[in-house]
Amino acid sequence: MSAGMHGLSSCHNHTQMSDGVLTLDDMVHAAIRQGFSDIGISDHSCLAAESPHATGDADAYIAALRSAKAHFAGQIRVAAGLELDALSSFPARAQLDYVIGSVHYMHDKATDCFYGVDWDEATAQSCINEMFGQNGLAYAKAYYAAVAENALRTRPDVIGHFDLVVKPNARGVLFDEESPAYRAAALEALDACCEAGSILEVNTGGVFRGWRSTFYPAPFVLRRAKEKGMRAMINADAHCAEALCFGFETARALLREAGFRSVAVLRDGAFADEPL
Ligand SMILES: [Zn+2]
Ligand SMILES: [Zn+2]
Repeated sequence: MSAGMHGLSSCHNHTQMSDGVLTLDDMVHAAIRQGFSDIGISDHSCLAAESPHATGDADAYIAALRSAKAHFAGQIRVAAGLELDALSSFPARAQLDYVIGSVHYMHDKATDCFYGVDWDEATAQSCINEMFGQNGLAYAKAYYAAVAENALRTRPDVIGHFDLVVKPNARGVLFDEESPAYRAAALEALDACCEAGSILEVNTGGVFRGWRSTFYPAPFVLRRAKEKGMRAMINADAHCAEALCFGFETARALLREAGFRSVAVLRDGAFADEPL
């Protein structure tokens, strides 16, 4: 694949610089083999308090991506991104091509305890018990309030896995994803993401890893996003080579069902709209 051509594209991918399994070089090689013309790397920002997988040195991170960009020029376009967690900051943001804004933790200020939103059902249940008086809906509402606050404060180019809070709720015991109150909270956060000018991603990673049977976000969110004129894109949130373009065709069909006629894609470090 010549890099001048439009092959597959994805901007949400992890390497060993955070919690991915492959080195940066191996991840890019895998993308080349699978027909990508553009691959964005978006390792996790450092969450000083808690993250077991920090990018650490921002300058080293930027340097590694710059070097890969130059090294692979002519084979694939490598873009320098970052998955910026709502509770962390990144000093070299201006040197990045784009930022994905994500909420991964609920932070209990009283105990300084962090609960991973996407860890497991037991963690979510502990958080609900400790911070929200056993009220799962209040927990979901707090997650969406954090998504909204983060979008308006950091104005990320892309909103990462918008409704990640549903990840450990496959059994439906934490809160009711069909309830009007839950949906209202999600749609209020979507309003903020729209106001921030961010692109909404369809994230296939939760299905790849067997957590969910449907992609993030839920169809009712996608439909509203389309109504509001938001842009949408498709990402695998890949942590390994096998995930790189997992579910892309199904995700395209989902977007079409929600009314989208175009999809945003990363082309040479910037986002362009292409027909679905
Ligand atoms: Zn994430
Ligand atoms: Zn990610």
